[in-house]
Amino acid sequence: MASYDDNNVFAKILRGEIPCDKVYEDDHVLAFNDINPQTPTHVLVIPKGQYVSSDDFFNEASDAEIAALFRAAGKIARERGIVADGYRILANCGRDAHQEVPHFHLHIFAGCDLGIMIRPNR
Ligand code: 5GP
Repeated sequence: MASYDDNNVFAKILRGEIPCDKVYEDDHVLAFNDINPQTPTHVLVIPKGQYVSSDDFFNEASDAEIAALFRAAGKIARERGIVADGYRILANCGRDAHQEVPHFHLHIFAGCDLGIMIRPNR
């Protein structure tokens, strides 16, 4: 597994070196609007800890960190009022998933019909 790159864009956001449009924050989690939203609601939910990917996070994070991330996603969905119409949570891990930013994050998509689940290039 690749080591954590301190200069990735989410690390810079966490250090306050570049701004973000914050949606939620607690001891373990920061959430903010995606800079290039794919849907009317497109929120990124990230752990404050240094985890490269879902593989790293799921295997190395503490139970408290893992619980905090999913609790945060649930709170954001309720606060945004997207539960009734529905939403999608997605995490890209690695090359085949086209993960661009090497700091683990959940995407929350909502606000329109989200279409089919995935469209793979077979
Ligand atoms: P990935 O492909 O790694 O799952 O998704 C990375 C996401 O981060 C993309 O949706 C992209 O638009 C978003 N992103 C990249 N740079 C920035 C940034 O500087 N600020 C914010 N808010 N989002 C970013």
